[in-house]
Amino acid sequence: MSAKRDPAVLLLTTLVTALLLAAVPAASWAKAPSPGERIANALRSSPVYVDPAYEGSVPPTRQRELADQVARTDLPIKVVLTPLTKGDSFNGDSATLAEIVHDRLGVRDLILITTDGNFTDSLNGYEWPGEAHQAQDAVAAVGFLDAMEDTGLADRTAKAIELVEEGDGEKAYEEATEDLGGDPPPSNSRSEKGTSTQPWLWPALIAVLALAAAFVAFLFVRRRRVPLPYPRAVFTAARTADEALLRRQAEAEVLSLGESVQSATSSTSDLQRALDAYAAAGTVLDAARGTPDLAGVLALVAEGHDALAALITPAPLPLCFFNPLHGRAASHITWRLLGRRESLRVATCTTCTEAVRSRRAPEVLMSTTEDDRLVPYFEVSNSLWSRTGYGSLLAGPEDSLALRVGRGDFSRDLTVPERG
Ligand SMILES: [Zn+2]
Repeated sequence: MSAKRDPAVLLLTTLVTALLLAAVPAASWAKAPSPGERIANALRSSPVYVDPAYEGSVPPTRQRELADQVARTDLPIKVVLTPLTKGDSFNGDSATLAEIVHDRLGVRDLILITTDGNFTDSLNGYEWPGEAHQAQDAVAAVGFLDAMEDTGLADRTAKAIELVEEGDGEKAYEEATEDLGGDPPPSNSRSEKGTSTQPWLWPALIAVLALAAAFVAFLFVRRRRVPLPYPRAVFTAARTADEALLRRQAEAEVLSLGESVQSATSSTSDLQRALDAYAAAGTVLDAARGTPDLAGVLALVAEGHDALAALITPAPLPLCFFNPLHGRAASHITWRLLGRRESLRVATCTTCTEAVRSRRAPEVLMSTTEDDRLVPYFEVSNSLWSRTGYGSLLAGPEDSLALRVGRGDFSRDLTVPERG
């Protein structure tokens, strides 16, 4: 995993540090937008972005035709055709490219069709929010259509847009792969670790269903004896299904923060705090052993973005105390841990705030203890996350997650060192 992230991060860190050391005025290097930003900027004037390397196969006339086709669909479709290789700004990963472009565009609704990092004539589909248009399957189907076998990138893209517009990608994908005998499709139409449906979705779905069934059985047997303070088993199911996805999201978020740092015009101290958060997020990501650590990466990334936006939003709330995966907290509440006397002032998301106010248990991020029990993360002693509540329990404005990771608090938590 670290091998996957390191080259880009190392390059970026070196570059940024070198620039800082050389005391180059921020403005002079801030003018060069990052690759993700450049693509997002281009997409604001046309829904089709084609890297010069692909202009041979998708010349300007075809680009205009594709743009017209997109406009006729009335859907928030954008197309990014660009070469992807390991070590580039997206680390050769179309999912990372998609996350960063979505982030930079700053829009909620987006259907993105991109080239693939592993197979140059393949396309991948991504969609936010939800999967209402079945874009992933629709775009993946193109690679299996006999009629598309000898066609170029432009024709494939046109077909992908057509199938997304039809809105029945699942069926299109099933039909296109029928003659493959029902086995999982060969990986050449989908990136190995992309958000593509097949490689992980089915095992994940089965795991979720199995765990949901186990949870129902568990509830049935235990209901009369033990009240469940938190929906633990539900979260276990979600955790099993989502950890791989969360890891990829965390990786993309770290790269995205790196991009923001690279193009920032913040004051030196804010930039330094953002750089510290970025470095700390990388440290935690490299050694992350489960969902609580990956949530910590997201909290550190949020800290980094907050540092860069310090002038606009001087005192932003941290992520939700009960579960940082809920996103940014919306308000503060006073809350008392079951069986403890002292109450805590914590920042929570809207859903958790409502839950606590109506005396329901919020959906808490769970952590696995050394003897393999699932407990709320804040009940784990000697954990950076329980001590800080992912930002809610910091000592003051001078305290930060990055500072604590920087002084070794996170590494000391690791009872079994993973590397040298
Ligand atoms: Zn929450």
